[in-house]
Amino acid sequence: MRKFIVPFAFAAAFALFAAGCSGVKAGTYSASEKGFGGEVTVSLTLDASGKITEAVIAAPNETPNIGGAAAEKLARSIVSSQTIALDGVSGATLTSKAVFSAAEAALKKSGAKLAAYKKSVAKSGADEELTVDVVVAGAGGSGTAAALAASEAGLRVLILEKLSNYGGNSRLASGFFAVDSKLQRAKGMRLSEDVAVHRLLEFNQYLSNGPLTRAIVYKAADTIDWLTGYGMTFHLQEKTTQFAHEGDAYEAFCYHKYDNSTQGFDNLYANLKKMGAELRTNTRLTEIIQNTDGTVTGVKAEKEDGGVLTVRAKSVVIATGGFGGDVERVRRELKTPYLNFIGMPSMGEGLDAMLKAGAKDWDATPLLHACQLAESTVAKESSSEQLAGYSSSALTWLLQSPLLWVDGQGSRFANEDVVYDTAFWANAAYAAGGRYFIVTDQATLDSYTNGDTLRLSYSGPGPSKEGGNLTELAELAVQGKTAWKGNTLSELASAAGFDEKGFASSVDRYNTMVSQRNDTDYGKSAKSLRFGVSQGPFYAFDCRAVFLGTIGGVKVDEHLRVLDVEHYKPIPGLFAAGTSAGGYYAGRGYPPYEGLACGFAWTSGRIAGESAASYAKSAK
Ligand SMILES: Cc1cc2nc3c(=O)[nH]c(=O)nc-3n(C[C@H](O)[C@H](O)[C@H](O)COP(=O)(O)OP(=O)(O)OC[C@H]3O[C@@H](n4cnc5c(N)ncnc54)[C@H](O)[C@@H]3O)c2cc1C
Repeated sequence: MRKFIVPFAFAAAFALFAAGCSGVKAGTYSASEKGFGGEVTVSLTLDASGKITEAVIAAPNETPNIGGAAAEKLARSIVSSQTIALDGVSGATLTSKAVFSAAEAALKKSGAKLAAYKKSVAKSGADEELTVDVVVAGAGGSGTAAALAASEAGLRVLILEKLSNYGGNSRLASGFFAVDSKLQRAKGMRLSEDVAVHRLLEFNQYLSNGPLTRAIVYKAADTIDWLTGYGMTFHLQEKTTQFAHEGDAYEAFCYHKYDNSTQGFDNLYANLKKMGAELRTNTRLTEIIQNTDGTVTGVKAEKEDGGVLTVRAKSVVIATGGFGGDVERVRRELKTPYLNFIGMPSMGEGLDAMLKAGAKDWDATPLLHACQLAESTVAKESSSEQLAGYSSSALTWLLQSPLLWVDGQGSRFANEDVVYDTAFWANAAYAAGGRYFIVTDQATLDSYTNGDTLRLSYSGPGPSKEGGNLTELAELAVQGKTAWKGNTLSELASAAGFDEKGFASSVDRYNTMVSQRNDTDYGKSAKSLRFGVSQGPFYAFDCRAVFLGTIGGVKVDEHLRVLDVEHYKPIPGLFAAGTSAGGYYAGRGYPPYEGLACGFAWTSGRIAGESAASYAKSAK
């Protein structure tokens, strides 16, 4: 359990509180609120004068280096400032909100006058101004590549990162799409960039940007070598976990996986430092500065201490990712509350700043990718695994199997074999409303407990390596209201809220198809028609489509210059890369090529850095 305990140590605050907080009954008061990943519990210890002498925040389900770190910081601030009217921690909005609400509820229980704890604390940070050649906002894959390319050109580069460390979603990812790389050639593979370009444009129905697609595909393999030279090394995937891709080298074997992304990022930043680039963490881009003619001349950012950092620069590269961390916005855009998010909390600040500077949002959209059980219990402590949604529960074996799936009404809606492709799987779940239910009977659970399973997928968020007693786990899920149970199908329908007749007919029809090994509705393979739903008790497990941040962004050209689309002209001095740049995809249907988003992020970042450097050199 992650707990953050902070005792009181400030005499000045003591004097303040000794004065005005009568009515408090000394003691420890606790309250809980839902945070990002689960319950956040705040326990405040107050003495009779009303002084908060200790704050304990238990945030076991928050992402350790985001919500967990925020809880730690807020526990310190509540005690040191004796107020709960604090700013939320950047990137951990939901955890911060949960902490403030729970703290307020705890204070109420103590009998304290709330107004005394709601005084805001003035931020004392000094404003600062810097001048560089190129400023890059965002230290994920695209921003890091942009900074490397601009530094290589001999320019003074500053990187702003809102979190306390570099890497972004690019560090959590596994790998990078590239065609005709040295690693592929060494294995005797000869793939063609032209074929890849053609296939990507066709998949996107020519809604994506042709010149940009060519620029990325033709430079990706060289970018692998380039990054390797700076210490981010790769190996070629030899066996795909997405079985649908197995027979297709472009889909499965263009995936160059990081050897170790954390070590690789450390190496890249050590090299950037040697090249003279400066990284400012905990510094959040808020605004792009322009001349009256629209030329971009720098950015403004908020420092951790509240001071404003003004950066004057000839070129600005926005590489702040998309808006995946703004869970409410994603749910609004996708029109369903039933989505789970995995990833770093980019809130769309870079996109919004570019829109204000005259750019147009071209195709920013959530990246639907695989599914999760509604409440995945994360057991492993490592932050990257937690972010990837790993779960210790063997119930994830059901998730990865083509068992019977029904929608919110209890009707079957897809060929469950799509579980073999993380994008199609998530899309099918999204088409059912973002949420679906796996329906099993007791015989299926017994079979899984004995290790006889129908697992097709070994990818996506949530694979557990260890088995377990599926019935016991299912009972726990029922208690936790993430699964429903019925001794009869009609009991299950009523518990889960299905249409009783429709559900009964779906199950009946499915059982007939299982017995005949022939899916006449959606064409599921005969080998996947093994488990019927006939021997009670019956269970329905709540599952959610997952999104991994967003893809797409503002309109750019193949040089990653941001375009003012009314005039189809570049906004002078403004460049975008990675998930801040649009045109490589066509909406939320992610093409079935493994590593495409990272291949785009790193390669577009490199091109943006080169373009920004050459513009900065020519700018007066
Ligand atoms: C768990 C997971 C696994 C994935 N696996 C794969 C995979 O295997 N292959 C693949 O191709 N794709 C994968 N993806 C998608 C892929 O990682 C992303 O699309 C890609 O890395 C985006 O790169 P980026 O540089 O645009 O953004 P990021 O790498 O997210 O970097 C953006 C950076 O900007 C920072 N930032 C945000 N706002 C501000 C601000 N206002 N000021 C300053 N800094 C800011 C962020 O903190 C972050 O560090 C995965 C995504 C996730 C979440």
